[in-house]
Amino acid sequence: MKHVLQKILGVIVLLLAWIVYALTNAGPSGPASVMSDVNSGLQSAIVDDDYRTTYEVFVYSFADSDSDGIGDLKGLTDRLDYISDLGFNQIWLMPVCPSPTYHKYDVTDYMNIDPQYGTMEDYDRLISECHQRGIRVIIDLVLNHTSSQHPWFTEAVNYIRTLPVGSQIDAAECPYAEYYNFTGNGGSGFASVQGTGWYYEARFWDGMPDLNLDNQAVRDEIDQIIGFWSEHGTDGFRLDAVTSYYTGNPDKNIGFLKWVNDTANKYNPDSYIVCEGWENQDSYARYYASGVDSMFDFAFADASGMIAKTLLGNCSARDYGNALEREWQLFQSYQQTAVNAPFYTNHDMGRGAGYYAGDDGRKTKTALAMNLFTTGNAFIYYGEELGMKGSGKDENKRAPMYWSTDAAYAGMTSGPPYMDAFEMKFPSYEEQKDDPYSIYNYVKQAMKIRNAFPVIARGRTWVHQDLTTDQVCILLKEDDEHAPCAIVMNLSDAEQTVNMSNTEFHQLKAVLTVNDTAVSYGNNTLVLPPYGIAVLTE
Ligand code: CA
Repeated sequence: MKHVLQKILGVIVLLLAWIVYALTNAGPSGPASVMSDVNSGLQSAIVDDDYRTTYEVFVYSFADSDSDGIGDLKGLTDRLDYISDLGFNQIWLMPVCPSPTYHKYDVTDYMNIDPQYGTMEDYDRLISECHQRGIRVIIDLVLNHTSSQHPWFTEAVNYIRTLPVGSQIDAAECPYAEYYNFTGNGGSGFASVQGTGWYYEARFWDGMPDLNLDNQAVRDEIDQIIGFWSEHGTDGFRLDAVTSYYTGNPDKNIGFLKWVNDTANKYNPDSYIVCEGWENQDSYARYYASGVDSMFDFAFADASGMIAKTLLGNCSARDYGNALEREWQLFQSYQQTAVNAPFYTNHDMGRGAGYYAGDDGRKTKTALAMNLFTTGNAFIYYGEELGMKGSGKDENKRAPMYWSTDAAYAGMTSGPPYMDAFEMKFPSYEEQKDDPYSIYNYVKQAMKIRNAFPVIARGRTWVHQDLTTDQVCILLKEDDEHAPCAIVMNLSDAEQTVNMSNTEFHQLKAVLTVNDTAVSYGNNTLVLPPYGIAVLTE
């Protein structure tokens, strides 16, 4: 009996020893790593600097508080926890000033809130509620042109109509006549003042007369406008159409931007400025010489940008990585403190869900992670985190935030006038929020990873050239203040194996998968399912 017990004990000891051996040799995270398990321990390490993550909001279509079908500042304020829970720490508001159009890019009063959106009191409350949540607010500032219904323009036109044929503008009689570029010669980019021989510069549309930005009185107005919003707690500005300030003259555009940036910094030394210069990358990179914080990185956005090109198979994972490595140097060559502003879509582009025919969500998701894992202040357009659809005319790109399939759901807006009726491709927020594999929860995990590893937003990007292939991109991120990391991205729809032995990165810290597939890691060998992403540290 004693011998039998000893034998049983011996077997138990051996068994325990084997279990301990098996556990300790299975690799840092076990043989297979499910997203929720690996990422559960990640802690947000948000740093209060310009490398933020920004949510672009079209107030009109976001959330309605008074059931008139038009989104408003109160509605947005009610939904701040949604934005905060996703992990954003900045909001960009498309224009909020009074305007005759739904999009409000033609302003009639630069120091007020459009009545459709609310009041200055609503704005002050929004700012206060954002700041309590650690969210900064930047607003769209449209300086290239005003509305043709702006009092400056209507007074100027009224004056010009009184001028006898052949006489010149006298600013002493009407200073506003020199706020714009009136001329006796029309041509491309100019519109006629009806009933006179005069024309005015209007590069976008005759309802948007271009301002004369050389006029000191106009600059004094802009100075006051920037001061006004800064004193209301605004954290910075998104500058519209900066390459059109002086059409065809980048040097003058850069000079004017420097003045705008200095003016913003005069009122708020931490003011954050990001600019829209919709040109090729070498052209907008030059604008960093103005000293502005960020330029939108158009080269990676839209259906023809680097992200979509990679996922469509029109360029390789290696090309994608090399483009990221190159741009860091390009921007630095103009300004040492340049903060890239990567984005994937915005209000002027078809939404990402329309880029990939037949996509079941895998490419739509991966594209969003690629954007969020890019160094800089990454921007996401509202609704992309749900895979909202919208293409064709501009109104379709600015559809009601898809909170629910129920039009009577609290906060639902009715959308821009003349928007086409169309079905969304992916479910609403209400349907996605509890699905661990929804686009919404994928973006939430990607944001969690971005916020847990400050080096992802801040580090210089290098491509691990030896391990990077046409299918797998391995980005190394490093800066002076944070631990470096490697982001291993399988950008193909086949499983990929990567041996990390000859790198310094051996600790699997985070994974991102497009569905219920797992990442496997052991003996420094990473097996990534299709579109799987892993973050490793030293
Ligand atoms: Ca409303």
